[in-house]
Amino acid sequence: MKSASQITAVALAAGMAFSQLSCGDASADGKEKSKVEKKAPAQPAKPVSKSDEEWQKILTPEQFEILRNHQTERPWGRAYYEFKKQGEGTYCCAGCNAELFSSKEKFDARCGWPAFFDTSKHENIKTVRDVAFGTVRVEVRCNVCDGHLGHVFTGEGYDTPTDQRYCINGEVLKFVPKVVPGDDAPEGEDK
Ligand SMILES: [Zn+2]
Repeated sequence: MKSASQITAVALAAGMAFSQLSCGDASADGKEKSKVEKKAPAQPAKPVSKSDEEWQKILTPEQFEILRNHQTERPWGRAYYEFKKQGEGTYCCAGCNAELFSSKEKFDARCGWPAFFDTSKHENIKTVRDVAFGTVRVEVRCNVCDGHLGHVFTGEGYDTPTDQRYCINGEVLKFVPKVVPGDDAPEGEDK
């Protein structure tokens, strides 16, 4: 019967979704580690291109949905509150480690997502016209791995040097705190 086979197909799809979810749960530890890097990751030397399967191995399910399927994290989420607390440092792409933003361009737009008024590495960012949802917006992507990061809005009246708001999904940013010179070098031993 046709309906029976449809039910089987739905059950299979649901099973697949479940197994993907549990995969994500299993890698939750790795996710926490990847959010804050101790030192700056090596910068990619050339464009990064991977299959969906390869991306799924290195990204959390949420990062995959944002970077590869252009989804948006919910506002006022965990990543946003972490972003607000972070001090000086740089923000790298969770997909390919390319530096994208730094704390120097960060500002509080009170919109529920991490906001920057500029990028710190212009060559690592590209913008694409986005006409989804019946509006015209400017999508922001990583220029190295082509991952979706968010959108950029201009002329909203923010008191920043550019009056631009790079509205970025915090889940796909890796924060690398600035190393204070002398912090890890034992000084004063020969004094
Ligand atoms: Zn990237």
